[in-house]
Amino acid sequence: MSRRKPRPRTAPARAAAPAPAPALGPDAPCPCGSAAAYGQCCGRFHSGVERAPTAERLMRSRYSAFVVRDEGYLLRTWAAATRPRSVDFDPETRWTGLEVLDTTDGTLFHTTGTVTFAAHYTHAGEPGALRERSRFEKDGGAWVYVDGTFD
Ligand SMILES: [Zn+2]
Repeated sequence: MSRRKPRPRTAPARAAAPAPAPALGPDAPCPCGSAAAYGQCCGRFHSGVERAPTAERLMRSRYSAFVVRDEGYLLRTWAAATRPRSVDFDPETRWTGLEVLDTTDGTLFHTTGTVTFAAHYTHAGEPGALRERSRFEKDGGAWVYVDGTFD
């Protein structure tokens, strides 16, 4: 194994500009895995034209927001009690697909709901999956993400 010359330690930690979010036009397939185009699916929620009517649609739109790195949408759809100050997007992570595995409640007629999903990604080229059971609640008529537990 050859030794590489170490990088100078004086370089600022965030010297490299983060990779730009993947470009996604309105006609591109929606990252959430629905058959619809982004502009007719999660894009409508991201732009604020519509609010996600169910916990599952909100969860799918939040996954898509991670794909396009829409921090504002993620924070807007996060319960005030658990909302972070900001969302860190790891530029090495590429989200590659979403599988919704189970839902409970979370329809128009509920005020709480859960969505269990697997979000697939590659991190620095290595494939992986995040499995989470997310909790959602309705706040002023809009679904928001509360928290999640890892399966
Ligand atoms: Zn979508």
